[in-house]
Amino acid sequence: MGNRISKTVAAISESPTLAMDARAKALKAEGENVIGFGAGEPDFPTPQYIVEAAARASNVPTYHRYTPAAGLPDLRSAIAAKTKRDSGFDVPADHVLVTNGGKHALFNTFLTLLDPGDEVIIPAPYWVSYPEMVRIAGGRPVGVTTTEETGFRATIEQLDAAVTERTKVVVFVSPSNPTGAVYPPNEVREIGRWALSRGLWVVTDEIYEHLVYGDARFSSIVVEVPELADRAIVINGVAKTYAMTGWRVGWMIGPRDVIAGATSLQSHSTSNVANVAQAAALAAVSGGLEEADRMREAFDRRRRTIHKLLNEIPEVTCIEPEGAFYAFPSFKGLLGRDIAGSRVESTDELAEVILDKARVAIVPGEGFGAPGYARLSYALSDEDLLEGVNRIGDLLSG
Ligand code: PLP
Repeated sequence: MGNRISKTVAAISESPTLAMDARAKALKAEGENVIGFGAGEPDFPTPQYIVEAAARASNVPTYHRYTPAAGLPDLRSAIAAKTKRDSGFDVPADHVLVTNGGKHALFNTFLTLLDPGDEVIIPAPYWVSYPEMVRIAGGRPVGVTTTEETGFRATIEQLDAAVTERTKVVVFVSPSNPTGAVYPPNEVREIGRWALSRGLWVVTDEIYEHLVYGDARFSSIVVEVPELADRAIVINGVAKTYAMTGWRVGWMIGPRDVIAGATSLQSHSTSNVANVAQAAALAAVSGGLEEADRMREAFDRRRRTIHKLLNEIPEVTCIEPEGAFYAFPSFKGLLGRDIAGSRVESTDELAEVILDKARVAIVPGEGFGAPGYARLSYALSDEDLLEGVNRIGDLLSG
């Protein structure tokens, strides 16, 4: 008798961000006043013109049907045009595959690129899904630890030390989830040139391209190093820019052979993304960025507040996040101490105590490959943000 569950699936760990979010929501459902810093999604509704486009489409019978597996032709063209507008990367529409969110674009990408045992370099702290997806695709994730000293940005020396003859891909994420780090253009260029010289593929996750603050500037690795285009996959989507996490529309952009392979794969798994959701995404990417700018201003204000407040808590330090909507403070100074009557040895335990005693949900760093840290999303209302960090501060200083 074999195992009931395959080894591949049994080896997957539950997403800690979703797990923490689920616990916080369950407590809320029981009537508890919980403040959640866990979710990775904007707290704004989707802009009205996008919702209206979807409502109109839902009344048209053609939108009740399948589309080509790779997506509505108009949407693929609009994504190509939007990419040229926003990052300067110029690609034809048949280099675009519309997927069920950025997550699905990454999943398709790893399954399309990796053979068993191929290694994928992933700078840590990393978004939790990358290593799991690489494993599911038969590859081997190789973490490269970055620290506050370099602003959580990987250096060429660190990346180069991780290369073996099995290395095929390097994952590049800027702005970063969970650290909020943004690589300046010269570092993006250096990493791109290094990947090119090493003959590696680059998977560049640009989902937070519009969420950069202060002097930080987003730049696309395939624009900084155009020769990389034949060995690079750009991941993006509407979720974070247009507050559309629930609509599930993302895309991958890559060379024609990879997109053709990934399209075949998708044609046997999910087929096309929901047709009405594609109509919504078409309105989003064809429209302006005014609403995105408005949301970014709110995130920027909250970013400055959370950065200041976290650093005021004794033994907590937090570098200034420059992008996305996450702060990634260190709680190392508190480990090994008694907090509210419990001895706390890890950020996993600390997050439990903070949820139990202060009714605040944060995501411990262990799942991001960064024990001693935690991720706090600042995509929540200004009032909740203030109240939540104050509760943590009171608990930890009490
Ligand atoms: N990439 C990064 C870095 C993310 O943080 C997320 C979402 O949290 C995604 C990709 C996937 O976004 P979605 O699948 O909602 O489009």
